[in-house]
Amino acid sequence: DKVRVSVLGLGEMGRALAGALVKDGHTTTVWNRSPGKADDLVAQGAERAATARDAVRAGPLVIACLLDHASVHEVLDPLAGELAGRTLINVTTTSPAQSRELAAWAADAGVTYLDGGIMAVPDMIGRAGSSVLYSGSADAFDRYKPLLDTWGTSTYFGEDAGLASLYDLALLAGMYVMFAGFLHGAAMVAPSGMRAGEFAAMAAPWLSAMTGAFEGFAAVIDGGDYTVEGQQSLEFSDLGDILAASSDQGVSTEAVAMVQRLIRRQIDAGHGGEGFARVFESIRRPQ
Ligand code: NDP
Repeated sequence: DKVRVSVLGLGEMGRALAGALVKDGHTTTVWNRSPGKADDLVAQGAERAATARDAVRAGPLVIACLLDHASVHEVLDPLAGELAGRTLINVTTTSPAQSRELAAWAADAGVTYLDGGIMAVPDMIGRAGSSVLYSGSADAFDRYKPLLDTWGTSTYFGEDAGLASLYDLALLAGMYVMFAGFLHGAAMVAPSGMRAGEFAAMAAPWLSAMTGAFEGFAAVIDGGDYTVEGQQSLEFSDLGDILAASSDQGVSTEAVAMVQRLIRRQIDAGHGGEGFARVFESIRRPQ
């Protein structure tokens, strides 16, 4: 069933989300703080709202895709009365604590709240590989899932509104550390004359293949026994050669030294013969 939906915030991401809704045949009202950004959407069939208040009044479902937590409050605080009885799906990036705060604010105002974390860039919205994580109101997720599925794969994690943000940020943590690892490698080979593009061509298939190790690490962590046979030991994974080669190339050792510190802490505690998955314990129990 097609839904009447309003989108607040027409930045890069808000325009992509609204565009996918229009394309899927939903009656879509759009609003942006500064004018002009709605023009293309209106040409495609969206309805322009002059104010955020008009947009909220247009239908039962409001999507917020603003800059951050503060901008969501700035736009919605004056509209709490209008939002009462409606559903707010907030896909603005916030911390878990900020998502929970918005959920409590919404509950006070009589607003049904669902929080979303978008695992995609605007170009990916509505295409393969796009995924959005949700938490908060199960009723809202169930009711609007067909609409949410126009953006990508929709996954719901529970009533705690902070979970979508938590899982979003956990995935981004993995991404950024991997990106830093790639850039470290590119810096290491640069003094020998290899261009970053050549290194990228080698690194992309290698790192993609290495994601196959996640499941094995996870099985060890979930099994609770770091001594199971067949793992690469922490002593073997000392990273000393990588640090020495980095220094010899004259590049910073920081990115790799960070990983070595996490390994060393487990070796120093007497776990050197156990598997690499034990690094999880260094992170789980900060010093
Ligand atoms: P943009 O910078 O392109 O757009 C920001 C939007 O927020 C604009 O519509 C802007 O309005 C609006 N805005 C900012 N401050 C206020 C305010 N105080 N009051 C009203 N409106 C305000 O960002 P994106 O569209 O890329 O991102 C939007 C959200 O989506 C962010 O939380 C981002 O983290 C998240 N996201 C983005 C991804 C991406 O790849 N782009 C990926 C995943 C999540 P105005 O035009 O008037 O400035």
